[in-house]
Amino acid sequence: MSRKILVVEDEPVLLETLEYNLGRQGYTVCTADNGSTALDVARQELPDLILLDVMLPKLDGFEVCRILRQEMTVPILMLTARDDEVDKVVGLEVGADDYVTKPFSMRELLARVKALLRRARFVEEEQTAKQDEPAPQQALSFGDLSIDQTRREVSRHGELLHLKPKEYDLLLFLAHHRGNVLSRDTILERVWGWDYTGGSRTVDVHVRWLREKIESDPAMPGRIVTVRGVGYRFEG
Ligand code: CA
Repeated sequence: MSRKILVVEDEPVLLETLEYNLGRQGYTVCTADNGSTALDVARQELPDLILLDVMLPKLDGFEVCRILRQEMTVPILMLTARDDEVDKVVGLEVGADDYVTKPFSMRELLARVKALLRRARFVEEEQTAKQDEPAPQQALSFGDLSIDQTRREVSRHGELLHLKPKEYDLLLFLAHHRGNVLSRDTILERVWGWDYTGGSRTVDVHVRWLREKIESDPAMPGRIVTVRGVGYRFEG
């Protein structure tokens, strides 16, 4: 089923360019050129993702984002033009999921769209799985890697990996938050517990051990990616 994207942009040429390029990728596109129409269209069409410009007539993108956040969980990617707008988006005051700064390359934008949709689908599936059967759920698989949550076993290319308990917990936590940037502190708190007294180096060490086991090239990790100055992101 084709995913539906709502593009909200008041600059006609940019709107048309976005519509064209997203359409070419197979997405169904609906559009709005001001904030209040954006609300109407979002409520009517229930899109899978919204590209939302900040500076808009009638109601700005921040306001639109705030209002929609209270009504639906759709991923929102903000299109920002100025640094102070970026500050506001990054401060998560408005509840956007991601942003790109104008001018952006279409290639980058499409990559972000794809990543957000993939993440949303993963969360959706996770929630459905939770509803369908009580935990623990079925196996998670990421390419050649699979995690059997019932048996707490991880295998790669069908061969069982020998993970220490904390390595398993860490991998499972990362996998459940695939695509999200996780700080060392968050990981430490959620995997080791808030009362753990060791430092966040513990996280780095376990990530290194995990990479030795699950990455094709541990020196150039593609699964557990380092986000400089912050922590890690699991790519799957
Ligand atoms: Ca604008």
